[in-house]
Amino acid sequence: MIDLRSDTVTKPCSRMLDAMMSARVGDDVIDIDPTVVALQERTAELLGKEAAIFMPSGTMTNQIALRCHCLPGDEFICEAQCHVYQYEQGGFAQLSGLVARTIEGVSGLLAPHQIEGVIRKEDDHSVRSRLFCLENTHNRGGGSVYPLSLVNELCGIAKAQGLATHLDGARLFNAQVATGVSAKQYCEHFDSISVCFSKGLGAPVGSCLAGSADFVRKARRARKLFGGGMRQAGFLAAAALYALENNVERLAEDHAHAKILAAGIAKTDHFQLVGTEPETNIVIFSVSADWGNAARFSELAMAKGLRCFPISAKNVRLVTHLDVSKADIERAVAIIRELDKTA
Ligand SMILES: *Cc1c(COP(=O)(O)O)cnc(C)c1O
Repeated sequence: MIDLRSDTVTKPCSRMLDAMMSARVGDDVIDIDPTVVALQERTAELLGKEAAIFMPSGTMTNQIALRCHCLPGDEFICEAQCHVYQYEQGGFAQLSGLVARTIEGVSGLLAPHQIEGVIRKEDDHSVRSRLFCLENTHNRGGGSVYPLSLVNELCGIAKAQGLATHLDGARLFNAQVATGVSAKQYCEHFDSISVCFSKGLGAPVGSCLAGSADFVRKARRARKLFGGGMRQAGFLAAAALYALENNVERLAEDHAHAKILAAGIAKTDHFQLVGTEPETNIVIFSVSADWGNAARFSELAMAKGLRCFPISAKNVRLVTHLDVSKADIERAVAIIRELDKTA
């Protein structure tokens, strides 16, 4: 089975497991776990921030970031298709009393003029605009990458009007590898950044939230509230450290594989790429109405040995990752072309 449902499906390789098994650990809730500390320091350094904190998931790092930047009743501004808004159960409302102001981008990317008009002035009638969020690379945007100049311009507008800035960088290292712009450069104008180790980097679990030392202290308190304090978490942090040292540069292979899938899809009659050519490891395509729909595609693909997710009635998503080889990708293209011929 070739599983392209997500880059989260990867299993730790034997060297990653060795690193986990030999980790030095402590109790990260009572005081410290040395391997968690090493991961946090390394992540903070890579992102150019004072500190970072390890948590079980990217949903938790995002939601805690929102909570720490805002007060109940505050509003944050984000792109309408972003993970924070689409895939986290509105946790910001349920857990922190926040309101989201969504703006529809193009392939997930916002333009500067779109945010200028929506940041509210202080007024007794209105919620307070407090925070601006971006997602890079953008998941539902098809793994699209924000150009650095656009990130800086958007953050500049938000900051000039007194907003804090948060980056959902679940796949920030994909953006780094695709563009050659370092993660640190991308993070310069963000007050907080969430990164995931369990996506393309191939670790089994975990995310970090980075920011100023004060911000991270506040986030640590919220992590305990949210039930995210983990004791001998060094076993997991060791996997994330291994991933940072060994699995970043190789993301380029996943990007090359996504381009092969896209080229195969472009040759079909019934399936059409959504947006531009994939820039990173996500390929989204639509299924023509005369052929059927995304659910039918996923069902028939599965019967032929290819797993994928229908992400809407028409659209299917494929995600490349370190557990699929070039031969698997070529087989996937062959399956897609066979399905194209299936009336
Ligand atoms: C996967 C993902 C997250 C976090 O997801 P978890 O499953 O909670 O770790 C956050 N943002 C984006 C863009 C993602 O793709």
